Amino acid sequence: MEILSTQESDLARAARALREGKLVAIPTETVYGLGANAFDEVAVARVFEAKARPTFDPLIIHIARIEDIGLVAREVPESARSLARALWPGPLTMILPKKSEVPDIVTAGLPTVAVRFPEHPVARRIIELAGVPVAAPSANPFGYISPTTAAHVIDMLQDRVDFVVDGGPCDVGVESTVIDMTGARPVLLRPGGMALEAIEAVIGPVVIPPRTPHSVGHALSSPGQTLSHYAPSTPLYLFEEGSLPDAARSMGIARPSVALVYTPARAREIEAHHLFDAVEVLAPDGDLREAAARLFSILHEFDAGQFRAIYAERVPEAGLGRAINDRLYRASKK
Ligand code: AMP
Ligand code: MG
Repeated sequence: MEILSTQESDLARAARALREGKLVAIPTETVYGLGANAFDEVAVARVFEAKARPTFDPLIIHIARIEDIGLVAREVPESARSLARALWPGPLTMILPKKSEVPDIVTAGLPTVAVRFPEHPVARRIIELAGVPVAAPSANPFGYISPTTAAHVIDMLQDRVDFVVDGGPCDVGVESTVIDMTGARPVLLRPGGMALEAIEAVIGPVVIPPRTPHSVGHALSSPGQTLSHYAPSTPLYLFEEGSLPDAARSMGIARPSVALVYTPARAREIEAHHLFDAVEVLAPDGDLREAAARLFSILHEFDAGQFRAIYAERVPEAGLGRAINDRLYRASKK
């Protein structure tokens, strides 16, 4: 594995490597992606292998121009065009009917394809220089916390990736919002870095399916939507806003343990109980964007430390709070 900078000559090397069928970890505004040429079946197979990702979990294809949507999607409904014009580039993935040229391994055999135009200038430049759409899941072992720095990728994947482009920490910090645009009404498949409010402002109401206790291996409308995902190795217990520490106390608190809460004010209230060995704040300035950007880094740090359990409180369910609560829920013990 070789680490590349964001200088143009290094981005050109990354692009050439993609064209040659190599795996390149790329910074995006959401999380680091493990990229491969989307039209190279063998390279895409190596992505699944590197992540130990089950092949029924399809990848998102990344493009660097709105027009390139036609390289992978067979048809693009008017509402999808409106979303692309209004919100791309950005942390929004759309599910569309797949073009037959897209290898089945990318879409896990589904007749649909996931497409995103990322905003990060480094990701855009690499895709442009590569001249091919780039299939990229998050650059972490399947089921584990997503990487938001190059160091996370290097620690987790090591020599299973050929190049890591170090573009610094990711701004958004949680994965893209996934919207299925293939039916009569748009459906939210995964809350993420693009606020649902912003999407509904463009295309009107989006269907939010209830969370059902499906498991890995079932035929899911969005196969990556397993209830347990994005999980740290340290057990994480999730509580309603404002219910720590009483709810945690009633189940017994492991030592050493850490509480994870939204704001500094809430942290001070919890510290006063002297029940946890540490209290970590998701958003020092009390901002949901900041909380999203810091979430996975904090979970990585907890896993590198000595804690035996993490006791987390939900954040407000609005804007990026939906994605944060979704990731916390799926990281948690059920
Ligand atoms: P990741 O790239 O690891 O962040 O995960 C990609 C997400 O997009 C997963 O939740 C997948 O299940 C979802 N996805 C990708 N392709 C499709 C598709 N064709 N239909 C529905 N969901 C998809
Ligand atoms: Mg992932």
